[in-house]
Order: sequence, then structure tokens, then C-alpha cells
Amino acid sequence: MEHTPAESIDWVKAGNDHFTGSVLFGPLSSAADRSLNALGVLFEPGARTDWHTHPDGQVLYVASGVGKVQTDGGETVRVSAGDVVYSPAGEKHWHGATETSYLMHLSLTTGGATEWFPEKVSDQDYRS
Ligand code: MN
Repeated sequence: MEHTPAESIDWVKAGNDHFTGSVLFGPLSSAADRSLNALGVLFEPGARTDWHTHPDGQVLYVASGVGKVQTDGGETVRVSAGDVVYSPAGEKHWHGATETSYLMHLSLTTGGATEWFPEKVSDQDYRS
């Protein structure tokens, strides 16, 4: 067993290559076991990912705050604490905070790295 106190988690600011707004990453996976990539992600109000896919899919667990998720061609859906969102392998989507609330979610993935589209989420998609 490995216990990491909250104050020892090394939160880092995400670059804005693949994000709009301010986003922090907190790595939660054990460095010794990279088969699971568990990440805490904190979006400030207005912050969101760019469009992307995950090669083995992704489970999001909303830990706190209020956010939005959207699959390409689908409705923008509001999510809040306790919600679980599953994106199957290869499904194009984005996730982020609402305009007025932060969003904290856990991201659980296996397999390879996120595949990013060179495409920001439009204000039309974000506000819908
Ligand atoms: Mn995702």
C-alpha cells in the first residue's frame, strides 16, 4: 500500500496546447504501475479540453463542481458531482467546467496517450 497525503500530490498547470482556460493536473496513479492512468483534473470556470479521443476509452468521475461534456454531433450535457461519464475508444469528445463553476473530475484511462484534434471547442458548442 502506498498512501500519498493530499498535500504531497504534485498539481501542475496544463499547457494551453490542448486546453482553453486554466486547468490543473494531479497525477494519482502509482509511478510503479502505469497500466492505469488516474488523473485528477481541475478546470476553472470557462476552461475545457480541445476535441480529442482516447485509444481505450475513458471513465470520468465528477468529484465536485459543475461541468459540461459533449460527444461530436451530440448535445452538450451538464454534469455534476457524483456523475460518471464513459467515452468509448475512439469517440471524439470534450469536457470542461461551466462558465460560472469550476469542475473537478477524475480521469481513468488505460492504453496509450490521448489523441488530440487540432480543434478548439467553438463558443457555439461550449455555450449550448
Ligand atoms: Mn476525454
